[in-house]
Amino acid sequence: MRPTSLRSGLAVSAIALAVAASGLLAAAQDSAAAPQNDLMNATVWMETAVEYKATVQQLFKLAKTQLDAALEDPSWTAVPDKQGEGYEDLPLAIVSDLDETLLDNGNYEVSLVTRGTSYSSSEWADYVESKTSEAVPGAVEFAKYAESKGVKMFYVSNRKEPGKQATYENMEALGFPMGGNADTVLLRGGKEEWGSAKENRIAYVAENYRVVLLMGDNLGDFTDAAEGSLEERDAVLAETADRWGQDWIMFPNPEYGSWESATFGGEWSLSEDERRQKKIDAMEPWMPAE
Ligand SMILES: [Mg+2]
Repeated sequence: MRPTSLRSGLAVSAIALAVAASGLLAAAQDSAAAPQNDLMNATVWMETAVEYKATVQQLFKLAKTQLDAALEDPSWTAVPDKQGEGYEDLPLAIVSDLDETLLDNGNYEVSLVTRGTSYSSSEWADYVESKTSEAVPGAVEFAKYAESKGVKMFYVSNRKEPGKQATYENMEALGFPMGGNADTVLLRGGKEEWGSAKENRIAYVAENYRVVLLMGDNLGDFTDAAEGSLEERDAVLAETADRWGQDWIMFPNPEYGSWESATFGGEWSLSEDERRQKKIDAMEPWMPAE
């Protein structure tokens, strides 16, 4: 019995070792194969975390509460500097950004992470044409609610004008209200004077509508002052403190935005390593005692 038992014991041990070794090998291969990409944690969060989903659902709930308040207040406007005389009598509108505010382009970001590459405008144009954006959780319901209250949704996005038809079809398929006879998709280059700064497009909407909410994931969705330094952006935040959560609603986007380029002065010509160093330098570390 004993030798047999010993043999079978050895055999079991050998199998266990082999299994453990193959597990280690697989882990080593996995770790070698896992692409390194600065986008990864932010993308995992936006793709998988219930904390992200809860955050944006909270924000749409807040937007609905504020919209209800606006409906009761004829003088309510999110853009007092852009409304003309008699604006109180205009029909109501909301101006919202699209990407990472109403539209979720997580599959594009995941593609960058898994391929170990970064954003390119030509590839982004192909992505827009793929019409595979999804809706941010709560976005369609909010937009439909606004429409049910007679509030027109205007989509002011820095997607480029050639992608307009695809964007329209993608959004319509997701169930967003698309404005009926009004042209509500206002993209970069849609008019000669429409660059990436958005204030003139917001003002364009405000000519004919009382704009009750602005929604975005980037300071530039609210003010053209977004392109300044970190200090200048902090000053803008302080100046506009009363708007946030009132009639300006900011959505989280840790994947990209003017917050990122502000850390390296918008110098995209720097190498990725140089930009990464400037991001690190933009933060103040705690240091342990010697
Ligand atoms: Mg956006």
